[in-house]
Amino acid sequence: HYPEVETLKNSLQDKGVKYAMASYVDIHGVIKGKFVPLAHLGQMLAGSELYTGAALDGVPQDISDNEVAAMPDPASAIQCAWNKDLAWFASDLYLDGKPFDACSRGALKRQTDAAAAMGYTFNLGIETEFFIYKDSADGGFEPISVRDDLAKPCYDPRGLMDNMHIIGELVEALNAIGMDVYSFDHEDANGQFETDFKYADALTMADRFVFFRMLANEIARKHGAFASFMPKPSARRTGSGAHYNMSLADRETGRNLFEADGDDLYQCGVSKLGYHFIAGVLKHAQAICAVIAPTVNSYKRLVRKGSMSGSTWAPVFVCYGNNNRTNMLRIPSQGGRVECRAADISCNPYLGAAMILAAGLEGVREQLEPGLPHRENMYNYNEKQVAEMNIECLPRNLSEAMDAFEQDPLSHEVFGDSLFQAFVDFKRDEWTAYHTHVSDWEIQRYLKFF
Ligand code: GLU
Ligand code: MG
Ligand code: MG
Repeated sequence: HYPEVETLKNSLQDKGVKYAMASYVDIHGVIKGKFVPLAHLGQMLAGSELYTGAALDGVPQDISDNEVAAMPDPASAIQCAWNKDLAWFASDLYLDGKPFDACSRGALKRQTDAAAAMGYTFNLGIETEFFIYKDSADGGFEPISVRDDLAKPCYDPRGLMDNMHIIGELVEALNAIGMDVYSFDHEDANGQFETDFKYADALTMADRFVFFRMLANEIARKHGAFASFMPKPSARRTGSGAHYNMSLADRETGRNLFEADGDDLYQCGVSKLGYHFIAGVLKHAQAICAVIAPTVNSYKRLVRKGSMSGSTWAPVFVCYGNNNRTNMLRIPSQGGRVECRAADISCNPYLGAAMILAAGLEGVREQLEPGLPHRENMYNYNEKQVAEMNIECLPRNLSEAMDAFEQDPLSHEVFGDSLFQAFVDFKRDEWTAYHTHVSDWEIQRYLKFF
């Protein structure tokens, strides 16, 4: 039982909170919730809110099984800016009083515990790129604003200023809950924005990330729009990444252990520990990709050009380098951290962070070396040249990604039996549904072609 229930209840009450949401994210990272009047906060924190597993994607239960209990984490409580009556709590799933294995938050905790046992805190900052759209007259959707006079709306101040009623409100809401936004801008597609907030330990960041998607959506809806976290809504424009900025800190002192030490071995700006971590992530890159880029649509983003003009800024190859945006792993010029550019905004951040941390820790434990960095523009090489350089490609579609995921023993280890099977089943079904669909593109290309 949480000892400070009364203190927490009082402080929420003082802020005007009337209801608490015992929230759980399903295997896709989508928020589900049950609501409890604040008078019952104590019971809720003790696990009173039960979910029928069969109703949740990724909870492999039969309707005849016992319900799973949401065990809210009191430290995760956030007052909801769009409805101040409500406080959101991230929860872990329990079954019959024990942690339930098909829980993605639990999977991340297992890895952060492993890091802690090695003396590390895994710090993570996720950059959030997303679209604000509105419904259009023809029944479709359109960007919240379009600069027809601009070929590329990247960093366009007007695109941002015209939408400050939404983005400004979002930034204020993030700051009000201590997320410390340090920068936001208009990205390279119409109606695409990015907000960047301060890093935190991975569990806190994952909680904040799933909350962020709900917050952005609710604020947009207030203004007659909606937020989209589809990775690549338009073939001709950039997609939405969710770059993972990662470092290991000393658990005791908080010192960043990725800060380059005396002899920066590969001259990219991280410590020896950082290079081992990188090597582990590269070793498991393709299985990781299935988790951090988890949809059919994710793989339309991970291309260098496709049907769009200009660069996508998205990675295609499994390699690392200095401040080079064409690599899967980039070490920004300030050094001291590693940015994984393959992740997109549709990811389940608990599973994504769990996979990438497990891979990085393996690199550290086994003292793996990452090979030489790539400082050149990797988009300039074709597949054959890349193969000659001994560099692998990221999966080209969800099917390839899932092949890699299933074959890599790390996936099984990180997910555990039932979550592993659930992920494989969902993603294989998603691929089959897509693969067997006949698209407009095919009709246009082949119907009268022969
Ligand atoms: N939107 C790009 C992506 O898909 C990233 C652009 C940037 O580096 O900010 O990852
Ligand atoms: Mg960006
Ligand atoms: Mg970035």
